[in-house]
Amino acid sequence: MAYYAQPIARLIDELSRLPGIGPKTAQRLTFYILKMPKERVTNLVQAIADAKESIVYCSVCGNFTDVDPCSICSAPHRDRTTIMVVEEPKDVVAVEKTRDYKGLYHVLHGVISPLEGIGPDDIRIKELLARVSSGVKEVIIATNPDVEGEATALYIARLLKPLGLKVTRIAHGIPVGGDLDYADEITLAKALEGRREM
Ligand code: ZN
Repeated sequence: MAYYAQPIARLIDELSRLPGIGPKTAQRLTFYILKMPKERVTNLVQAIADAKESIVYCSVCGNFTDVDPCSICSAPHRDRTTIMVVEEPKDVVAVEKTRDYKGLYHVLHGVISPLEGIGPDDIRIKELLARVSSGVKEVIIATNPDVEGEATALYIARLLKPLGLKVTRIAHGIPVGGDLDYADEITLAKALEGRREM
C-alpha cells in the first residue's frame, strides 16, 4: 500500500535528492510546500527556473555568473597578478565576505578523487594553466584542507612551480576536515594571512 498520493511521493523523492536533505526533511518540506499559498509556490518554482536559465559559468574563472566575464573578472580594481584557486563557487562567496582579498579566482568545480573516479582532466586544471601565462605572479591554492583538497593542491603546485610562479597554500584557521564556506570571516582572513609557499 502507498503511504502518499503519487504527486506527494514524487515531490519527496525529488527533494531528497538534494544535498543534505534526508527522507525526513524531504517529507517535512513537501508538507510545508503543500500548505504554502499558491503564489509563493509559483514564485519558488519561477526563482529556481530563472536561476537555472540565466546563470552560466564565467569563461575566465568558472564561477557562476549572469554576465560573462563575471563581475570579479571584469572589475578594473582587482589585482590581476594573483589568482586564488578554489573548489566550488560557494568558496568564492566565502572568501569575498572577508573583504581581504583583491585578486582573481579560479573555480575548479571539484577536486581530484581517485576513489570517485575524478582525475585532473575532470576539473578545470587545464583552464588554470592556460590563464597563468598572462602576467600572473602568484597562485594561492585554497582547496579544502581534507585529503582530496590537499592532494589536488600538491598536484597543481607541481604543475605551476616549474613555470616560475609563486605558489602558496592557505594555512592556519580552517579546521582539518572542514569546509571553506563554513568558516567565519575572521577564521578565513587568518587562513589567508598565514598562507605558505609550496
Ligand atoms: Zn570570472
